[in-house]
Amino acid sequence: MDLGLTQSELTLQQRARKFANGTVRKRGIEIDRTGEYPWDVVEAMKAEGFLGMTIPRKYGGQGASFLDAVLVIEELGKACTVASRIAVETNMGAISTVMQYGSDEQKKLAAELVLSGDKPAICITEPDAGSDATSMGTRADKRGDAYVINGRKHWITGAGVSKLHLIFAKVFDEQSRPLGIAGFLVVREKDKGLKFVKREPTMGLRGMPEGELAFENIEVPASMMLTPPSGIKRGFFDLMNAYNSQRVGAGTVALGVAGGAFDYAVEWIKTREQFGRPIAEFQGLQWMLADMQVALTASRLMLYTAARSKGPNGSPFPDPELAAQAKIFSAEAAIKIVNDALQFYGARGYSNNFPLERMARDVRMFTIGGGTAQVLRTLVASKTLGWKLPQTREGYLDIANKKKSAAE
Ligand SMILES: Cc1cc2nc3c(=O)[nH]c(=O)nc-3n(C[C@H](O)[C@H](O)[C@H](O)COP(=O)(O)OP(=O)(O)OC[C@H]3O[C@@H](n4cnc5c(N)ncnc54)[C@H](O)[C@@H]3O)c2cc1C
Repeated sequence: MDLGLTQSELTLQQRARKFANGTVRKRGIEIDRTGEYPWDVVEAMKAEGFLGMTIPRKYGGQGASFLDAVLVIEELGKACTVASRIAVETNMGAISTVMQYGSDEQKKLAAELVLSGDKPAICITEPDAGSDATSMGTRADKRGDAYVINGRKHWITGAGVSKLHLIFAKVFDEQSRPLGIAGFLVVREKDKGLKFVKREPTMGLRGMPEGELAFENIEVPASMMLTPPSGIKRGFFDLMNAYNSQRVGAGTVALGVAGGAFDYAVEWIKTREQFGRPIAEFQGLQWMLADMQVALTASRLMLYTAARSKGPNGSPFPDPELAAQAKIFSAEAAIKIVNDALQFYGARGYSNNFPLERMARDVRMFTIGGGTAQVLRTLVASKTLGWKLPQTREGYLDIANKKKSAAE
């Protein structure tokens, strides 16, 4: 299908495919077995120019488009989910937030780290503050020209390996009055008090550490506080908006894994014979295969459209609802596609001698991390209805009371 890619986009896609099919595919299997973060793959990606490619030229990057990054992420996802996620986190995620709202000093720091091979960590989730992120307990207290951060985060991707951490905390002034939520750029090893607590034993993506971090009196210069122009009070909402590109990136990893599983599935059903003929001749499997293809095409069209709509790194995401829709659809579709591909392999699909069981474990996270499929649906429903949809009881009561008083 012609997806309207330009010649240079097609060339990049081919280059990424060749790179992914080289050592990266083989490493994908080993990374899953050892659970080790693949520094060698990071170096290879750096040499290939796939780390921080969307960073503006002014800060040492290539100023590549988000669609360019998406094409690379998809190809890597077919071969190695960990490598694909590294591409997301060095082109979108924290780096996008810093490029959109950061000061010149912050942008230089983040770009330098990413281009040298760092995958920044985004620190939002806490044991008691998951989907309800604004109830976080981590706090940053103003002390002269600095903020002192205390708290705990869990399920932080890159915990123990990332250098740059974008830590979200409730901000308090010198009199302990709450001001809102802001992000803080903290560098492991340089800023004291950032403690690695433990690594989570995960279902999939085993080479990408997920872990718990504790912040004990980390003193951060005030210049490292990240707030959007809207200020601290409503800043968290805007900072979260900067994650729309990350959602497109995460959806693309899922698409890549699904595409990789699909390729294995097509090859397998043409060669595996039962009842004296290739199993591809059975209509029961042909229809499953067709549904997989339909879902892949739909995911690709949504993700490419969302990526195309985004201007250079640093510009706002024009349509957050589109990013949410693309992530919901591609993540859920990918889980089903990989599962169906595994089914085609019969017992072999269930064996870790074949790649499908790893892919099925890896792909499961995409309806959870980066905003669950349910919470993203709330965003889509809110936009569709044209209503604010507060999730707290107090928020609903407030709206109900206002409606009641207006009617009286
Ligand atoms: C692999 C992985 C990587 C991650 N990486 C990071 C990271 O780098 N940084 C970070 O900060 N966090 C990270 N997370 C955490 C992730 O963002 C949270 O898991 C997610 O926001 C959900 O929070 P929770 O797990 O506490 O679930 P909960 O919020 O407790 O939700 C439990 C269930 O209830 C549903 N639910 C909750 N509220 C609503 C609602 N209002 N309406 C409908 N359903 C609702 C959820 O969809 C979910 O199904 C990662 C998670 C995973 C699995």
